[in-house]
Amino acid sequence: MKKDLVFDLLKQEKLRQRKGLELIPSENYVSKDVLTAMGSVLTNKYSEGYPSFEGISEGTLWSETKIADKVLPNYRYYGGQANVDRIERLAIRRAMKLFHADHANVQPHSGANANEAVYFAWCEPGDKILAMNLAHGGHLTHGSPVTRSAKIYKFLSYGTTPDGDIDYKELEKIALKEKPKIILVGYSAFMKVPDFDRVAKIGKKVGALLMADMAHVAGLIAGGVHPNPLDHGFHVMTTTTHKTLRGPRGGLILSKGNVASPLKKPEKTLTNIPILIDRAVFPGTQGGPLEHVIAAKAVAFGEALQPSFKKYARNIVKNAKALAKRLQKNGFILQGGGTENHLVLVNVKESFGVSGKMFEKALDMVGLTLNANALPCDKEAAFRPSGVRLGTPAITTRGMGTAEMEKIADWMTEVAKLCVEIGNEKDLTSKKYAPAFEKIHKQVVKLALKFPLPTEG
Ligand SMILES: *Cc1c(COP(=O)(O)O)cnc(C)c1O
Repeated sequence: MKKDLVFDLLKQEKLRQRKGLELIPSENYVSKDVLTAMGSVLTNKYSEGYPSFEGISEGTLWSETKIADKVLPNYRYYGGQANVDRIERLAIRRAMKLFHADHANVQPHSGANANEAVYFAWCEPGDKILAMNLAHGGHLTHGSPVTRSAKIYKFLSYGTTPDGDIDYKELEKIALKEKPKIILVGYSAFMKVPDFDRVAKIGKKVGALLMADMAHVAGLIAGGVHPNPLDHGFHVMTTTTHKTLRGPRGGLILSKGNVASPLKKPEKTLTNIPILIDRAVFPGTQGGPLEHVIAAKAVAFGEALQPSFKKYARNIVKNAKALAKRLQKNGFILQGGGTENHLVLVNVKESFGVSGKMFEKALDMVGLTLNANALPCDKEAAFRPSGVRLGTPAITTRGMGTAEMEKIADWMTEVAKLCVEIGNEKDLTSKKYAPAFEKIHKQVVKLALKFPLPTEG
């Protein structure tokens, strides 16, 4: 029988990933083990509900327990859970250890689901949530009017200062006046390290739940190069597992508080947060968990607990700083004047008079993948933003270092100058400029092929 066309396209995608350089800061390359766990027979299994930890002493290895699977308690709606329970417990334990949490829910299908579950766990319709303005680096799920959450809750927003930092004074002023139920810190296009202590102090003053959405920097936290909000008075941390954390696509919620039986209906108190979250994920907002993805999360958390991951996290930041420095030297104006994490936000419009969208397209033609991004107070329309956002998690996974960062920054500069010469987006593909793009493209491919993906070979 002829193989499905899908497999042909998968082959093409593998080639695209291998030959190009991934600079999108929210993407990464997983290990072979993560990929294997994800593509496993667990996709066949239904397991609505949760495993229980009753009767298992802390730190017990499964291979050492004498308890028969059938007598282990769980809160599942289906039979045949023996292996699934063990795997989900492993994922939970590893996540708790990695992020110093009292509790982990590993079931959210995505970062968006994780955030929505926390809102649902803590708020009633109409309650106020204070989060960063999307245009200043916040995420769609933090109150964009096009989302379901924004129709249910009342989102208020704070912004950034002209030098790119959080406007803590504005945050405090709004918090004191509005007394929001949740104060949310965490961003998709932000290059500084938040002062969690300062926000926690404000939150305690107004009695808000302190929530950090660390989707972008979770891997940096796990690797010890970024502060952990749970160590600084925050009650809840949500994240994706597929960005710097280098796991499968998915979400994760970590919290502080007491873990109790999910059978009792808990009151909305801070100590009950873990159980409120469990109930908000299932049955509140999701159905059956994706246990194949949870298995891959467990593998990824296991990898992140290794000493080598600390080195990886350090290198992500080192590379981002090197990239930022070279871009600045070459004439690019950077938002926030540089970077403290994995991400660089470039004001292309101000630097070269070129739109972020045109620059994104031109870079795509030479095998450099990143995305156009709005800048705070962007004068251009949202689909023609002035900036681009790029980051180093993926290329660092491939083993690249500061020398490669400088090469990438130089290619970006060449492409920006070409864009200036070409003048408008429509003419990017004109024959006249094809050789110039091809010349750079060849060099990019040559470098990329020298650094194989973790799943190759
Ligand atoms: C990526 C991201 C999310 C959403 O994650 P998805 O898995 O795409 O739903 C949420 N919050 C922040 C800050 C993010 O960067």
